[in-house]
Amino acid sequence: MGKTILILGGGTAGTAAANVLADVLPPGFQLAVVDRSPDHLFLASLPLLIVGRRRRQHITRRLSALESRGLQFIHGEVEGLDLDSRTVLTRHGPLPFHALIIALGMERTPLLAGQREWAFNPFDLGEAEQLHARLSRFQGGRIVLFVSSLPFTGAVAPYEIMLLLHSFFLQRGLRSQVELCLLTPEQRLFSFAPPRVSAQAAELLSSSGIILKTATSVRRVTKGGSLVLADGKELAADLIIGLPHHHLPAALESSCLAGPEGWLKADPHTLETSCEDVYALGDVAGLTTSAGDWLPKVGFFAHYQAEVVARNLALKLSGQKPRFKFQGGAAGAAMLTGLRRGSFVSISAYSRPPAATLSKPNPFAFLLKTIFEKYWLSSWF
Ligand SMILES: Cc1cc2nc3c(=O)[nH]c(=O)nc-3n(C[C@H](O)[C@H](O)[C@H](O)COP(=O)(O)OP(=O)(O)OC[C@H]3O[C@@H](n4cnc5c(N)ncnc54)[C@H](O)[C@@H]3O)c2cc1C
Repeated sequence: MGKTILILGGGTAGTAAANVLADVLPPGFQLAVVDRSPDHLFLASLPLLIVGRRRRQHITRRLSALESRGLQFIHGEVEGLDLDSRTVLTRHGPLPFHALIIALGMERTPLLAGQREWAFNPFDLGEAEQLHARLSRFQGGRIVLFVSSLPFTGAVAPYEIMLLLHSFFLQRGLRSQVELCLLTPEQRLFSFAPPRVSAQAAELLSSSGIILKTATSVRRVTKGGSLVLADGKELAADLIIGLPHHHLPAALESSCLAGPEGWLKADPHTLETSCEDVYALGDVAGLTTSAGDWLPKVGFFAHYQAEVVARNLALKLSGQKPRFKFQGGAAGAAMLTGLRRGSFVSISAYSRPPAATLSKPNPFAFLLKTIFEKYWLSSWF
């Protein structure tokens, strides 16, 4: 048996790394992916599922399908790392590795009092489906979406959900009966980006009649359907959507790779950790912009990082010098601004100062995002 390259997590970063490595890994090595879920979920499509434009089967794929690429899929829970013995601890026993790619993402837990009971979690597939069912019956009233803590995955996700809800109720002829309100502890939207981009995003929301309250934290959700804010005020709502708290997966909490703020420390360009041939990428990595803010936790960064790590590792294992670098930049990503339009987003997080742009809403950005979804789900599986 060859030496094993182990990939923890079959989400965005893990799937991309597995596919690239399957093509470029030199002989004498074997590849395995471990995930607690039997399915890969394309998270970026959850907002479309919430407004009824996607169903579960459109945005999930069996991770066992990766085995057609000549690798092994292990369905199991990762419980810890033993870096001294180069072993991953799982519920089914220890898994030794030669090189390790940690792509476990962020754990997402509704933590506020009353949140699990009285608010929908739009980042959970089952709850997103329930939310869609509830929205389909909704005839009017106030809908509040709140961000419970920072950072959260999918930099555009809460704004996108609100803009899609605006379109959804317009189409149903109910928009004038529905008040949409977004509460976030962010001082400004896209806080990693120049203030001009934040103002543009805020303008997009306000021109759709969405009430935006920044620098606003929620303390708890009541049974009666109210939000109690940090300043003690109460806001009544007819439907509450609450982003969960994001934190490091429990399996990694006691790892020496974890930084003081809870994410894994890794080189900003190679994603290698302090332990040789152990990489941390995607949402689990605690990278920062050149201004010291968290690098936005987004799929297109997870994807690029996976390409860098997979190609460098293959070079290294075949005795060559790794030469690829993650540059903290991405162009061509998109935020949906309605059921037919989107805005292109570009980010250059490592440039000094960090740069970002947001285009005017247009049909091409919508098209690009939906084409990318199809490309991802058909070419990787
Ligand atoms: C609603 C929403 C919309 C988004 N929209 C966009 C967008 O438009 N554009 C964009 O670029 N990004 C978007 N994102 C963000 C993007 O999806 C994430 O940044 C990306 O998925 C991170 O990839 P990852 O591989 O690090 O983590 P994930 O994709 O979350 O994968 C982690 C994997 O690890 C597994 N796992 C976790 N813990 C364990 C364990 N202990 N044992 C075994 N398996 C485990 C999970 O089951 C999962 O499969 C969005 C996110 C959300 C939630």
